[in-house]
Amino acid sequence: MPQNQTPLATADSSQQWQQWDQQHVWHPYASAINPPVLFPVVGAEGVELELSDGRKLIDGMSSWWSAIHGYRNPALDKAAQAQLQHMSHVMFGGLSHEPAATLCKRLVDLTPAALSRVFISDSGSVAVEVAIKMAIQYWHAKGQPQKSKLLALRNGYHGDTFGAMATCDPVTGMHHLFSDVLPEHVFAPAPISPPGQTPAQEELDQLGEMIRQNKDTLAAVILEPIVQGAGGMRFYSADYLIAIRQFCDDYGVLLIHDEIATGFGRTGKLFACEHAGISPDIMCVGKALTGGYLSLAATLCSEDVAQGICEGEAGVFMHGPTFMGNPLACSIANASLELLLSQDWQANIARIESQLIEGLSPARDIPGVADVRCFGAIGVIELEQAVDMSIIQPRFVEQGIWIRPFGKLVYTMPPYIISEQQLQTLCHKMVSVIQDYLS
Ligand SMILES: *Cc1c(COP(=O)(O)O)cnc(C)c1O
Repeated sequence: MPQNQTPLATADSSQQWQQWDQQHVWHPYASAINPPVLFPVVGAEGVELELSDGRKLIDGMSSWWSAIHGYRNPALDKAAQAQLQHMSHVMFGGLSHEPAATLCKRLVDLTPAALSRVFISDSGSVAVEVAIKMAIQYWHAKGQPQKSKLLALRNGYHGDTFGAMATCDPVTGMHHLFSDVLPEHVFAPAPISPPGQTPAQEELDQLGEMIRQNKDTLAAVILEPIVQGAGGMRFYSADYLIAIRQFCDDYGVLLIHDEIATGFGRTGKLFACEHAGISPDIMCVGKALTGGYLSLAATLCSEDVAQGICEGEAGVFMHGPTFMGNPLACSIANASLELLLSQDWQANIARIESQLIEGLSPARDIPGVADVRCFGAIGVIELEQAVDMSIIQPRFVEQGIWIRPFGKLVYTMPPYIISEQQLQTLCHKMVSVIQDYLS
């Protein structure tokens, strides 16, 4: 070793790297000085996470909606290995490759007919940034640069970067911390009526009125179709989507659907907008795109949006991430789509939904539980009070399941490959841990 060079640290025990973790690592939405309880994971296979002490946990989270085919899936592993024989990454400026072109063609084929152009990016938040920039550039090119605001829904979540964060619920997104730098957008009340129910006419009229009043400054409406994820785990009627599509058309406002959580079958349709039979002008996908293997996202738009942008002052779309179109991620995404569409995934999601409804319903009778709701392969138990994570998280682990609540919400969106037996165990243990916790 050359002199004066710091030796690279190598952990000689699990305790040692966990100590480094406590000292140096920042975890998501976590304190650095009062670090959260963490469980050391050494592997994952199928629906199970393996901890360093050998315990195996049934995964109820799909690693935040993404690992739909489970872990170490043979088809996805094979796709990754095959792509490694060619290249793991090359720049996307001036170069192109088959994995990206195939993926974009497939996304265009699978999403509503109006969407024809795809911009690939590295993460969901960036896909949302791209969608917002597309909408702003579009109106700029149309000679209406004042149309630069967004209308978003309360309880919405669209990511953590500045542009995306500004469209998240102002309260749960803690907007006041960033008020000097966040653009101010317009927020409509969260939809009230659940799927299958017709919203009150006044509620829809109120939404329409907000869009009409702000039409001169609105570039787009942005929303998560049918399922509001991290901002509250709420499900709402497709009638809102149909109404908002109409308002956007009537008042000249683009419509952005953020399908980052809902995409690829989670709600029982390949994309949640299909519940309403409508198409957005711009759509974001991410999370399950690679079956949870690598970070990858995409923003799709209509030919009209693409043309508008490219006829404007810049003549190009002003974005280009270093790792854009990563071939390894694209290859795995292609394999994930093949795997998903090669099976009767609709029947499987319906199976998961009915098992969740049955398995979680006993929680309704527990004092302290406010609501139990399921939609597609998503099950939610909402408590009256926010849970104490330091107490409840270890209890789930002791029971052999991986559930990561936030606030009042204890929820699951398991990998699609979860067996009936595993799902039964998962539901039963979720309910029993909550029962113990609340008693
Ligand atoms: C997770 C999520 C995002 C952000 O995606 P990241 O990959 O975490 O940046 C955006 N929108 C929705 C609806 C999400 O669920």
